[in-house]
Amino acid sequence: MDCIFCDIINGKSEAEILYEDENIISFLDIRPLNYGHTLVVPKKHYDNFLSLTSTELNYLINGLQTISRAVEKSVNADGFNIVVNSGKAAGQTVFHFHFHIIPRFTNDFSFSPNFKKYSNGSMKEFADKIRIELNTRRDSTDG
Ligand code: 5GP
Ligand code: ZN
Repeated sequence: MDCIFCDIINGKSEAEILYEDENIISFLDIRPLNYGHTLVVPKKHYDNFLSLTSTELNYLINGLQTISRAVEKSVNADGFNIVVNSGKAAGQTVFHFHFHIIPRFTNDFSFSPNFKKYSNGSMKEFADKIRIELNTRRDSTDG
């Protein structure tokens, strides 16, 4: 299987590696949205967010927080976005799961989606469908 991130992990491709331990690796994104844009990646190949094991997720989340702090400080950012693109429709281009840490600066750029508005009652319908998948029940609504 061809995977650029596996190649980086195995030392077959070069990357600007920031951190590495038994379970995770972190390196600079080659096409940054802002300088310092960083990826946090499990060493084991998982295609996407939903295929991760909870053990792997724990390692990643803990590393993500430590690395985010360092990234933010290193470029003196005003904040950062943590992004996961899961699936082609969501913009995923490398199918080896990864978190993006994108340093942000006041007024640097904006993602401007067209926000939708729930029509009468439809918010509950969407919530019910998700609750069914989660097998949870709620009798009251939040409006
Ligand atoms: P995705 O779109 O899958 O969420 O993100 C994949 C990211 O990997 C992109 O932002 C892209 O710039 C980065 N990327 C792709 N190939 C390479 C590479 O060979 N080296 C590094 N460092 N980053 C890469
Ligand atoms: Zn891989």
